[in-house]
Amino acid sequence: MLALVAACARAGSPSTTPVTRPEPAGAPAPLPGPAITSADAAYFESHELMVPVAGVSPRDLRDSFNEARDGGRTHRATDILAARGTPVVAAIDGEVVSITQNAAGGNTLYLTDSERRYIYYYAHMDRYSDQILHAVRVKQGFVLGYVGTTGNAPPNTPHLHFQVMRMNPGQQDWWSGTPVDVRNFMTLVGRARAQGY
Ligand SMILES: [Zn+2]
Repeated sequence: MLALVAACARAGSPSTTPVTRPEPAGAPAPLPGPAITSADAAYFESHELMVPVAGVSPRDLRDSFNEARDGGRTHRATDILAARGTPVVAAIDGEVVSITQNAAGGNTLYLTDSERRYIYYYAHMDRYSDQILHAVRVKQGFVLGYVGTTGNAPPNTPHLHFQVMRMNPGQQDWWSGTPVDVRNFMTLVGRARAQGY
């Protein structure tokens, strides 16, 4: 577990160059606001999230949102540990915004809801599922890919790096929204739904 603390992805821009911000050396960057607002909480109380890894229960989720990461960063995401190759699933009924690779995140994918209110970022996947390469809209539980260690994940600690970001209305740079700590709102056990639609 210690190895995990040293690394782990941040959301990158769709290009290979991650978006960076100046941060004071050795100190965690200040949070831009509360990790979750009352408006976020109200939204997620009425839009249940599935744990995005098959077979993982909400009670198995460890809080890693405020952990320190390389370069004085704060993690601002949830790491979900599972065996390599475990199916990674859609947390929501959503739409694929991007399937891309970057140095930190490895094989990544971005989903959004129908209003583009939140972006759901998945990183370190071993590989994508065959069916996601042809899908745009997906149902909760759709298999997106498989747990792995691509990008800067420790090779012996397969996990999904999962981050939810709040968008401002009309925000265009969808890869750099405000991270929201939704761990307590993932209420459904991760479960791959039957494909074929
Ligand atoms: Zn992570």
